[in-house]
Amino acid sequence: MRQPKKYNERVFMKLLLCTSCSDVKKLHIEQETICSCGKSKGKYLEDGLHAVISGPCVSLGLHNTELVAAIKKQMEGAFDFDRGLNFTAWVISKSSPRVKQD
Ligand SMILES: [Zn+2]
Repeated sequence: MRQPKKYNERVFMKLLLCTSCSDVKKLHIEQETICSCGKSKGKYLEDGLHAVISGPCVSLGLHNTELVAAIKKQMEGAFDFDRGLNFTAWVISKSSPRVKQD
């Protein structure tokens, strides 16, 4: 399965969050992702940067570099506190040129 492109040394991943069933799913290039209730769906376009989503949903952006660093530290036992390590995630704006919502 093809993965989204990396750009500017920073890697981001978009997820689909259905506000009807609260399912969160990763988007794939040109392969539709559908939530558990079937009301929301989305996919990356061929360029691997832009995406389209539809239904009662929002798209989420994850800062993958921060996420991978936090996972690596957890696996190495580099931190030992209950709360874990933070990484950046955000709700992508409806006006974002990278995600079109039908
Ligand atoms: Zn759903």
